Amino acid sequence: MERVYHVTCHECTFEGVFEDHRTALDEWNEHERDDDHRVSVLEIDRPSPRNPV
Ligand SMILES: [Zn+2]
Repeated sequence: MERVYHVTCHECTFEGVFEDHRTALDEWNEHERDDDHRVSVLEIDRPSPRNPV
């Protein structure tokens, strides 16, 4: 299983799924800072990777 991070804004339609934790946190912090919105991050265990190596 592969862990991904689902970033969701509670105040607009901003959302994204990131495989890298730091990228998810960057997007989160950036959106909160730029738009002053409340953003949450969920860790999701994705059952099957989209691009198997
Ligand atoms: Zn927002």
